[in-house]
Amino acid sequence: MIHETKAETILLKHKRVDSWFLSIAGMNLYRGCEHNCAYCDGRSEKYQVGGEFGQDVVVKVNAPELLKKELDPTHRRVPLKPGYLIMGGGVGDCYQPAERKYKLTRQALDIIAGFRYPVHVLTKSCLIERDFDILKRINTNSRVILSMSFSTVFDNISRVFEPGTSLPSNRIKTLRQAKKMGMATGMFLMPVIPWITDMPDMIEAAVRQAKSVGVDFIVFGGLTLKDGRQKEYFMQALLKDHKKLAQEYEQLYQDPLWGNASSEYYAGLSSVFNKIAKEYKISKRIPLYLYQDILTENDRVIIMLEHLDYLLKLDGQKSPYGFAAKSIACLDKPVSQTRGSLRKLKGVGEVTERIICEILETGTLKYLESLL
Ligand code: SF4
Repeated sequence: MIHETKAETILLKHKRVDSWFLSIAGMNLYRGCEHNCAYCDGRSEKYQVGGEFGQDVVVKVNAPELLKKELDPTHRRVPLKPGYLIMGGGVGDCYQPAERKYKLTRQALDIIAGFRYPVHVLTKSCLIERDFDILKRINTNSRVILSMSFSTVFDNISRVFEPGTSLPSNRIKTLRQAKKMGMATGMFLMPVIPWITDMPDMIEAAVRQAKSVGVDFIVFGGLTLKDGRQKEYFMQALLKDHKKLAQEYEQLYQDPLWGNASSEYYAGLSSVFNKIAKEYKISKRIPLYLYQDILTENDRVIIMLEHLDYLLKLDGQKSPYGFAAKSIACLDKPVSQTRGSLRKLKGVGEVTERIICEILETGTLKYLESLL
């Protein structure tokens, strides 16, 4: 059931730049999601989405009006810093069925185009093709990243676990079309589902298809299952056809708070993906050329350090770069102005200092490029 509401604010500014999406702010135009994926994290009590998740959707009908005000620099006390606005993810897909009628995402994109902000859209719906006209305009004036998320590229499995979404085969076609129109595209291959879509041949099939339509990157991740609504709903869907897996799942998921599987499982899974991604020469994080000329100096350094941290850990190595990124996120001035005292920052030693200086001097980082 659709519930119309008027929100008080719409733009959610991140505390720090998000290195998964490159975003500095985002918005939830809808709360709840008719796509009704069995594994959806938005179902967890943590996000306080009321009603029956998958059926009840709250529509923020005044979102465009609010967004126009909140993006307008003449209305802001502190101007919004440069960076991508993320549409999608969170507690509801921005192209779920209600969007056909309400067109909130379309209106929001039109407003974003007017203010010339770059945008990153993440969806599981081919309805986004309706808005290619506006996305093309944004891509000409600033930049668009169009990402689609997948738990699998197999249509028959998708129908069981993500019944309301566009079929994966159609999502791949949408990515192909967006790429042909000059947009940057990405695959969020997450969450892969243990013993259902996490086998090496299935991961490889997804990587192969993504590569065949020229995506710029693939971001990979496993499933989390938080105790409560999310885990209960998922287990019901799983047990319909996979009764034998019940015990395996109970053993794998023993972290009620965050819903993490065992660290050994994630490590094994990541190493499978890492190997395949290397074979197909596909970037495992959003590449530098998509943010080099967009983000502030500090945000560029933070993202590059966080990507380095992720990639080293993926290769089974230790890394101090995540700590260094946190310290830089706390600076209240450009990092180039602290060059003489970088070592005073927590997590910054001799090597990290050299790395930060290389980023500041050249705008790039050879070490990171070699790992991506
Ligand atoms: S499309 Fe995304 S937000 Fe919607 S149900 Fe699926 S996982 Fe949740």
